[in-house]
Amino acid sequence: LLMRSWISEGPVWVRPTRFADLLRIKAMYPQARLVVGSTEVGVELRFKHLSCPLLVGVTHVAELNEVEVTEEGLRIGAAVTLSHLEAVLKELLEDGGSGTRKWEKWRMEGCAALLHQLHWFAGRQIRNVASVGGNIVTASPISDLNPVWMATASVFELEAVADGEQEQSRKREVPASGFFLGYRRVDLREKEILRSVLLPWTRRWEFVKEFKQCHRRDDDIAIVNAGMRVKLRKGEEGEHEDWVVEDACLVYGGVGPIPIAANRTVRGLIGRRWTPDTLTTALANLSDDVVITKDAPGGMVEFRKSLAASFLFKFFVHVAMKME
Ligand code: FAD
Repeated sequence: LLMRSWISEGPVWVRPTRFADLLRIKAMYPQARLVVGSTEVGVELRFKHLSCPLLVGVTHVAELNEVEVTEEGLRIGAAVTLSHLEAVLKELLEDGGSGTRKWEKWRMEGCAALLHQLHWFAGRQIRNVASVGGNIVTASPISDLNPVWMATASVFELEAVADGEQEQSRKREVPASGFFLGYRRVDLREKEILRSVLLPWTRRWEFVKEFKQCHRRDDDIAIVNAGMRVKLRKGEEGEHEDWVVEDACLVYGGVGPIPIAANRTVRGLIGRRWTPDTLTTALANLSDDVVITKDAPGGMVEFRKSLAASFLFKFFVHVAMKME
């Protein structure tokens, strides 16, 4: 294959239909690039003069195109297009899923946030071909979906052929929060591919919200975006009997080389009531988490910081209104 690429002076294109064949190809040619919508690879080949001897189209591998409703959550194949995912999420949110088991609305907070974020993701033409996996593996600092995967505690399911045993595969699960290692660098080993994403159901009194601010309203990349989740619990007897924060995750895109989890802000929220005082403390802590230096790529430093703060404010109001 690589000889053919060398002779033709261009990449060789293969399109396996079986998942096992795809893993074998990746094991034999670790430098092969998987392609789904080519909305990233195409740009790299055409404008950044990427040289890649082997391109592997994975649109016809059934396992990568499945969306499965499971007891833990929604398992989304890596090659599922964003338009297809939108359609599945809409159906799920409307009727609670097909079959005998119906899922309550409160379990689908993550699904709703994902669906809303997809609405503002590129234009219809891009969403029709671009895939979930392509977006994750590209690891763009302004990916609209990666902050949502992280905030919802989603898990990335990776797979490779086990060394020396061509028929067996080696699986690995990596939490979205640990997958992004640096600027466009992810925890994906040489022969591994991303197989699917598990988006967990939310628990009772757990809320998720997405945010994105661009220059244009439609079809534009984000200046700052975010995914936020909070789990509340009723205060115990003897304690103030109000709702207090049990768990939270606030993740921002567009403020650093990888999505940034506002961990200090979250630590200050745990055990606190969902009140304006708590919000004031959280906003003060946020400036320690979202640090954008004056010379940071992208500029607009003050604007980006104020967007981060205003998303948190909006999240606070969103959750407070849900609790009314
Ligand atoms: P491809 O280009 O096919 O692949 C991208 C990379 O992922 C490649 O390196 C490929 O090898 C790898 N890959 C793909 N699948 C796997 C797998 N299963 N395992 C391992 N590696 C894999 N992004 C946003 O977040 N928000 C936007 O609003 C937005 N707007 C855009 C507008 C335009 C006009 C364009 C061109 C792009 C935009 N993007 C946006 C970026 C882009 O659309 C996404 O990153 C897209 O989801 C990539 O999916 P794809 O299938 O096209 O990836």
